[in-house]
Amino acid sequence: MSDMRPNDLKAYWMPFTANRQFKQAPRMVVGAEGMYYKLADGRDLMDGIAGLWCCNAGHKRPRIVEAIRKQAGELDYSPAFQMGHYKAFELANRLANLMPGDLNTVFFTNSGSESVETALKIAIAYHRARGEGHRTRLIGREKGYHGVNFGGMSVGGMPANRKMFGALVAGVDHMRHTHGIAENRFSRGQPDHGAELADDLERLCQLHDPSTIAAVIVEPLAGSAGVILPPKGYLERLRAICDRHGILLIFDEVITAYGRLGAPFAVDYFGVEPDIVATAKGLANGVIPMGAVFVQENIHDAFMSGPETMVEFFHGYTFSGNPMACAAALATLDTYEEEDLFEKGRVLGDYWADAVQSLKDCPNVIDLRNLGLIAGIELEPIAGAPTKRAFDAFLRAYEKGLLIRTTGDIIALSPPLIIEKAHIDFAFDTLRAVLREVA
Ligand code: PMP
Repeated sequence: MSDMRPNDLKAYWMPFTANRQFKQAPRMVVGAEGMYYKLADGRDLMDGIAGLWCCNAGHKRPRIVEAIRKQAGELDYSPAFQMGHYKAFELANRLANLMPGDLNTVFFTNSGSESVETALKIAIAYHRARGEGHRTRLIGREKGYHGVNFGGMSVGGMPANRKMFGALVAGVDHMRHTHGIAENRFSRGQPDHGAELADDLERLCQLHDPSTIAAVIVEPLAGSAGVILPPKGYLERLRAICDRHGILLIFDEVITAYGRLGAPFAVDYFGVEPDIVATAKGLANGVIPMGAVFVQENIHDAFMSGPETMVEFFHGYTFSGNPMACAAALATLDTYEEEDLFEKGRVLGDYWADAVQSLKDCPNVIDLRNLGLIAGIELEPIAGAPTKRAFDAFLRAYEKGLLIRTTGDIIALSPPLIIEKAHIDFAFDTLRAVLREVA
């Protein structure tokens, strides 16, 4: 399709992209394998962000390709409601075994946004099933990103994502975030300062009356807002406040799940167990849309032993537990396990951290953050032109063969977990050159 004309680029309204700008210099991908994309102009582009934080096992992985082919020839679709198929049960069991603690009931969705909506609705309905229907309020955080559907957008705290859309879901409030603590700048790994910011939840409890609050949702490590790490002790403190007031704690692990931090889940990495965990992205390696929400057994039990009207959860998607997605997810988990990819963030963690922190002397770098195989590089904004410097960096890195992601003035990296040291060297040498150029 390389003979497309500018007008052919009009019918597809691109997500989170201004078509008008894209048309001027379309960046077209025609193939992908391992760590690389193949571009329409024939060049290779190293994937520094695992697709959109999702292709954790890299691209075109043989096991996954084969599983999808095989499944398409056996059972392409199964009605999602009042009918089942074996792979959905197999996958749910496997995921429940992988997830620590009692988070043993799994609800399937098709995206991170749907996982978040599902988690929020489970939280509210759970309280109702227990006779606490007065708990309906939801608490998110400033700068939080929980997808684009109405619930997730409302508990989210990214101003640009909210302000186009007028009135959002009512009964939502936001805690402060943990970003911008001066003492935490350039801290390698989890920062030391700011655990007390969790007490902002206590403030909201006093403001609203805690018995009206259903749930608190946080990304244990926030990716989309520019890689914001939880200070040591912060998540533990949130857990304690939730316990004190009977509030459910939801982790949005859409980015952190499936190996990003050097452990299967952030629940493992941080050692804090929430009541509900929302996941998606890496579950089926980004190949087929799929999400999974993990729920503590006692939450599921509350529905099963609740009033008759609550035994069926009146929520679900036509494609929940889709056989093709389940087959892709099972093959993805096989790949992660066979290649020890959940260990990779730990094994390469020091090398990665050294590489990230080595950018400290580059011009305009005001903070560097790393954890597992994830990095945030924060740049000094150009006065009067916020976001320009980072976006220029994105364009120049692309020209030099490296795909990065930017939000505001922050560059994020989150490569496929099959990354090796030579790829890390290439990525950071490229970034070093790019940062000098955009100075
Ligand atoms: N939650 C978090 C933490 C995310 O990072 C994202 C996607 N970046 C989402 C939810 C939404 O996921 P999706 O785009 O699959 O709907």
